[in-house]
Amino acid sequence: GEKPRLLVVANRLPVSAKRTGENSWSLEMSPGGLVSGLLGVRAQFDTKWIGWPGVDVYDDVGKKSLCSSLAEMKCIPVFLEEVFDQYYNGYCNGILWPILHHMGLPQEDHNDRNKTYQTQYDAFKKANRMFLDVIKENYEEGDIVWCHDYHLMFLPQYLKEYNSKIKVGWFLHSPFPSSEVYKTLPSRSELLRSVLAADLLGFHTYDFARHFVSTCTRILGAEGTHEGVMDHGKVTRVAVFPIGIDPDRFINTCELPEVKQQMNELKERFAGKKVILGVDRLDMIKGIPQKFLGFEKFLEENPNWRDKVVLVQIAVPTRNDVPEYRKVKAQVHGLVGRINGRFGCVSSLPIHHLDCSVNFSYLCALYAIADVMLVTSLRDGMNLVSYEFVACQEAKKGVLVLSEFAGAGQSLGAGALLVNPWDVIEVSSAIREALNMPAEEREKRHKVNIQYVKTYSAKKWGDDFMSELNETFSESEMRI
Ligand code: UDP
Repeated sequence: GEKPRLLVVANRLPVSAKRTGENSWSLEMSPGGLVSGLLGVRAQFDTKWIGWPGVDVYDDVGKKSLCSSLAEMKCIPVFLEEVFDQYYNGYCNGILWPILHHMGLPQEDHNDRNKTYQTQYDAFKKANRMFLDVIKENYEEGDIVWCHDYHLMFLPQYLKEYNSKIKVGWFLHSPFPSSEVYKTLPSRSELLRSVLAADLLGFHTYDFARHFVSTCTRILGAEGTHEGVMDHGKVTRVAVFPIGIDPDRFINTCELPEVKQQMNELKERFAGKKVILGVDRLDMIKGIPQKFLGFEKFLEENPNWRDKVVLVQIAVPTRNDVPEYRKVKAQVHGLVGRINGRFGCVSSLPIHHLDCSVNFSYLCALYAIADVMLVTSLRDGMNLVSYEFVACQEAKKGVLVLSEFAGAGQSLGAGALLVNPWDVIEVSSAIREALNMPAEEREKRHKVNIQYVKTYSAKKWGDDFMSELNETFSESEMRI
């Protein structure tokens, strides 16, 4: 028979659109955990994507032509226009993101805070309504709707109000904080009640799921049950689905001749030195300043290593419209200057810091030639960079130094050297241990990691979530 239909709703569509003429567009799929995860699901479902296309289009000719180009890739755009800034830069990235990552609410502009918060919160709700409107235009009876991330926390409730029979899943790609932090959010109850309207809620780790459940019990007075949360007689299933990557994509790319060529050039460039690699969006949750402080301590305490090691940091530009992000960028640049000034010489610098993104094949080459990968997130949903490094290290078997505060700390913890990024001395000694680790132990650790990365792939994540959603829903139908 026909495949069941699935609508995947996320803030961003998985394509990047570039306008090439009045009514022509070029589109490219941008793969990430979410896209890779749904490549597997695609076989069993007739899948369509709904999301913001990543570009502002104000003319009808442009909108119409973009819609038809996107339709070929099974994508449907939500044009957010004037609400976008307050919704995305304001509420999502300025309020929810720091709360979810234990950073607390921003403390500036006390005079305007009430006004700003209210405007941003209203825009957030409005944007969620705009997503609902597009879903309504495309919904057919029996469709399953899978909502993604904190951007769409009102969508489960809006969907169920529209039609209580729709199967609704929601997955949080970020951490969920301790109730003590979540409590500070002014709209805390409304948001929780809304996501509880879904049939299944998914989190990356057991800790995040547990935080969510206990937050519901403490703030709403709901009951935590074996299955999830019970609020006013309704049970919402809560479960853990650690996302992963498509490991073959990385393994195969490392075998390409042009990537081997890039690896050779990099090896030559850094001949005689060990390479420590960092790849992060320049976000305060990534703990880049803490990473540099740990590295500085290492150089301080290990003078014999000073001319034998470099830290290559790819700091991918992100969210420049949010003031906190501009601040962390300036802070990071200050540290790079200080450390390079202290420990550099005319012919070589300890930190190679780049404010840019790199293309996929070059990223694989960097992952493959690195001796040590250094991930010092202060809080991170999963951190796929650590998985990608492992997938590219089949030949080298380098060491992963990983923050215990990244979701990945709970999955790759056995093979990695876990650190508390706030502890400069611990980071410094982990760097020393990683650089000095004997081949035999590196191999052993790599084996554990690669095994995990191959097993808990993005495909498995998508499949598991969808089959759990199917089961959850048939159970709840039986209860009625
Ligand atoms: N990445 C990228 N361009 C780059 C460097 C990295 O697109 O120049 C990708 C990287 O391959 C990874 C993603 O960005 O898939 C980062 O995901 P992660 O889960 O580590 O952190 P997030 O940025 O989602 O917080």
